[in-house]
Amino acid sequence: MKVYISATLRGFFERNAVIEAPEGTIRDVLRFLTDEYPEAAKGLYDGDGKLRNFIKIYVGDEDRTEADKWYKPLNADDEILLLPAIAGGAPSDSIISDERRKEVAFDDKEIERFGKHLLLRDIGVKGQKRIKAAKVVVIGAGALGSPVIQYLAAAGVGTIKVVDFDEVSLENLQSQVIHTTRDINRPKVASAKDKVKNINRNIVFEAENTELTADNIVQVIEGYDVVIDCTDNYKARYLINDACALYGIPLVFGAIYQYEGQVGIFNLDGGPCYRCQFPAPPEPGLVPSCAEGGAISPLPGIIGSIQANEALKLIIGIGEHLDGKLLTIDSLYLHSKILKVNKNRKCPICGAEPSIFKVEDYDYEDFCGLKESENEIPVEGFTPEELAKRIENGDPMMIIDVREPHERAILRFPHAVVIPIGQLARRKNELNPDQDTIFICKQGKRSILAINTLREAGYTGPMYNLKGGIDAMKDIIFSHEGAWL
Ligand SMILES: [Zn+2]
Repeated sequence: MKVYISATLRGFFERNAVIEAPEGTIRDVLRFLTDEYPEAAKGLYDGDGKLRNFIKIYVGDEDRTEADKWYKPLNADDEILLLPAIAGGAPSDSIISDERRKEVAFDDKEIERFGKHLLLRDIGVKGQKRIKAAKVVVIGAGALGSPVIQYLAAAGVGTIKVVDFDEVSLENLQSQVIHTTRDINRPKVASAKDKVKNINRNIVFEAENTELTADNIVQVIEGYDVVIDCTDNYKARYLINDACALYGIPLVFGAIYQYEGQVGIFNLDGGPCYRCQFPAPPEPGLVPSCAEGGAISPLPGIIGSIQANEALKLIIGIGEHLDGKLLTIDSLYLHSKILKVNKNRKCPICGAEPSIFKVEDYDYEDFCGLKESENEIPVEGFTPEELAKRIENGDPMMIIDVREPHERAILRFPHAVVIPIGQLARRKNELNPDQDTIFICKQGKRSILAINTLREAGYTGPMYNLKGGIDAMKDIIFSHEGAWL
């Protein structure tokens, strides 16, 4: 029977593409391969003798990767394929047409500037012209946007549009290396524009100082070659994914959290979309966002650089990219994996029977659980000023800090009793139902979850949330701390 070896694995099989193996089960065939090609064991199995998890075994079009399917007898005419996740797609084609490439010319300075690309056989003048012809949208000029925007500019992408509505703040500077201390309080897109123009004045830089919504996203991305998602919230991610899928624009996705990151390419030539992989976001407050959970400084640099690299590969048309795959990297232990993303036939945007046809008609707030549902009692809260007044007046109340211990180490809240969110239901007897209880966290979101958790656990005393969390109250705490203690 014939065993087909995918290109990336051929190095382990003396570069053979097809190997004739004696009849038997998959188990027998694998044993035959490792006997005949001693190198193959290294390629196929990990240190524990398990089939490496990026390799898929197909018999015909049937996935027989799981070891319990290895004992089923095969027919003499069955064809076996060894397919590594990394080589899933067809050979890369450029997303920039030859017509557009041919319209591009270089001057002497550009030949000098891009010399190191021109030296690479796979890029050369043709590839560099494609890069110059390309029009890329980067959504988010924060941690991931910083490397993405700067590398695209340095690589010579002709048109870069950056969308962000935020201003630069001091806490951004730890990882958002496109901004500097002098940029604090400036719009991020303005700061990004200055950096890009410093790199290369000839780049067409389009700044959109606006919040991306279902009503404006189509106008933002239509007519562009690729969209790079550098945002940090689920609402934006699903909105970007859906709009890209509906308008057939490939999406380079990136995400970071603490020490871990993910990169993937979605919606390329009818490939899977972000919804195929993650049909729904987690409930709000269930997992902290990157803003709440933090991230190590160079991590967005690693993930964003890979996003920029993937976008350039799509533009030039080289290599094997992450289409239909998800690369995960753990920077703390330096583990990385490439996972296959399957197209979900039931996907509401790209499946067999889609139900989303226009982003304008879809309620992203509701989908991401950001709306108060009608049967849920709204959570009442105090502003930092109101809470400060109550503390000064000596009003009887209990303040519960639901943050994690390492967050409290940064800034303690005077008079607060500490109960981590996971222990609340169990420790509800420590609260006094005859008294007001005020819940506080970093940004005022987990405290709402805390109140709802206690309601579900049957606690009936009056509960309030600190609006905007400790972040919003920082200045007041600093100026009053002495008096309050
Ligand atoms: Zn999909």
